[in-house]
Amino acid sequence: MEKDLQVLIEKALAAGASAARVVDVNKIKTGSWTRWKCQYGCPNYGKTLCCPPYSPDYEATQRFLSEYQKGIIVQYTMQLDPTGPADFERADLQLSNELLRILLELEREAFLLNHYKAFALKAGRCRLCEKCNLEHCVHPTKARPSLEACGIDVFALARDNGFDMDVVTGPITKLDIYGMVLVE
Ligand code: SF4
Repeated sequence: MEKDLQVLIEKALAAGASAARVVDVNKIKTGSWTRWKCQYGCPNYGKTLCCPPYSPDYEATQRFLSEYQKGIIVQYTMQLDPTGPADFERADLQLSNELLRILLELEREAFLLNHYKAFALKAGRCRLCEKCNLEHCVHPTKARPSLEACGIDVFALARDNGFDMDVVTGPITKLDIYGMVLVE
């Protein structure tokens, strides 16, 4: 298992992740409050099948996480041009889909290493389609639920695994996004 986790970390870095680390799944913090934040405060609430109210709820996530021991947290970072105005919409699209690409590669690699339960989750809404049809996913092999939509405390997940993650209050020079592949 340890060897496979190291293989997955190296794979993530080779695929473009800025960092990847082993996660003890039983230490992941969850909370019903994350979905409240989605419903009251997020402009993307209800806009994709990977977000509430369509995504698995907090109780389902707790049961789901209890079936795993180890995972890999993946950080993807995008540097922003400090001299020019940031196009956050474009940056968010690239950030989201690049991270998803890495996570799906890892999920597949873990599966091929015989970790057949491997499953990826990604922070943020699904950005695979310009507009989600909200009825039937047209990319079911690629779309994965949002970590926070399912009740996972992403700030705690990052901090507990050694990443600096704070609320941004000053000029933004880079964007970090996180995802996770549950392995075994
Ligand atoms: S892939 Fe498209 S249809 Fe599927 S959840 Fe994402 S946006 Fe919606």
